[in-house]
Amino acid sequence: MTRKFSGSFTQQEAIPPEGIEAAVAVLNSGRLHRYNLGPQEQGEVALLEAEYRDWQDSKFCLAVTSGGQALQISLRACGVSPGDAVLTNAFTLAPVPGAIAAVGGKPVLVEIDDNLRLDLDDLERKIASSDARVLLLSHMRGHLCDMDRLMQICDAAHVRVVEDCAHTMGAAWNGKRSGNFGAVACFSTQTYKHLNSGEGGLLTTNDPELIARATILSGSYMLYERHGAGPSAEAFADPRLDMPNCSARMDALRAAVLRPQLAQLDRNIERWNTRYQAIENVLQGHSRIALIERPAAESPVCSSIQFRLPGFTADQCRELLKQAAARGVELKWFGGLEPNGFTSSHSSWRYVTAQELPNTDVVMATLFDMRLPLTFSEEDCALIAELIREAADEVAR
Ligand SMILES: *Cc1c(COP(=O)(O)O)cnc(C)c1O
Repeated sequence: MTRKFSGSFTQQEAIPPEGIEAAVAVLNSGRLHRYNLGPQEQGEVALLEAEYRDWQDSKFCLAVTSGGQALQISLRACGVSPGDAVLTNAFTLAPVPGAIAAVGGKPVLVEIDDNLRLDLDDLERKIASSDARVLLLSHMRGHLCDMDRLMQICDAAHVRVVEDCAHTMGAAWNGKRSGNFGAVACFSTQTYKHLNSGEGGLLTTNDPELIARATILSGSYMLYERHGAGPSAEAFADPRLDMPNCSARMDALRAAVLRPQLAQLDRNIERWNTRYQAIENVLQGHSRIALIERPAAESPVCSSIQFRLPGFTADQCRELLKQAAARGVELKWFGGLEPNGFTSSHSSWRYVTAQELPNTDVVMATLFDMRLPLTFSEEDCALIAELIREAADEVAR
């Protein structure tokens, strides 16, 4: 009989006890709003901002309601106005083109290569053929493109880079943290990312003007001096009057839950990576499964795994989903015609002008994805990988 995995692909670990205690203390205080502070009190949100700034090794940090809000605020703080072209990956999650649409921008989609990274030759072509001044770079599913070459290209063309680090919190390229390359970086603390507060986002930058604009945009009610990792008051001279209040503040409850998780993040990165390795070891060498290459310069955080089945038809891909599900393995497929869960193709984003992306389409047609929650053991991961091999063999028979 077919073997089956019985774990849940959406079960995260519990919030650490210190986080629960801190959350209860916030609830008991009644002071949930980030600016509702007692005398001499810094507040959980300001403390989180300072701690994340230090961990990320950036100058400034702002906590907001979601990763998507961090993206929108960043684009606006970089000066994107309605009608402006904004470069971005053709393969990403919907909140990325969504953030560009929210500020009235027009996405110019850039191809990816077979290893899911931005195609830098296509980026050069699209920079030349559009008048975009900003690249919203999505490190989609945790795969970093050659960041040195990317920055050379963008600096030479005076294109500012906004990094979407929803899947690369804690990752690095040549020893430099993902998020510290571009003008500004955006992180998500939504349940399926590397820190979990249900919803939430963080924004980091070294630019005092940019963080001042972002802070006012986040809805600071002119209380920006109560922030934990902001610039000096002079940086707000113009932003305080130029920028609208878009109400996207983080609250004390979420920050309280996040701070103890940040203290465990380095350890969790290792735990994700050993789980990934356990899967990759078993999938390696399969005649049909193509794994995604990891360049030597990349230090990833492998909280999910992607692989392709380049020889498979769409029917075979659908059959693989079924065969895997019958074995208790929840795979996602990026080749479907309709958006399904977090998977969607650029052709289903009707708010974006239709564009030709032949290589991205070929790659996505047989691309599969699987989450790796930390509630899985390494043995679970090895079993899951064996079941994926079995399912692929069954389809190919
Ligand atoms: C989750 C995610 C976001 C947005 O994060 P939210 O907190 O859900 O708004 C942005 N980009 C990518 C690639 C993501 O996976």
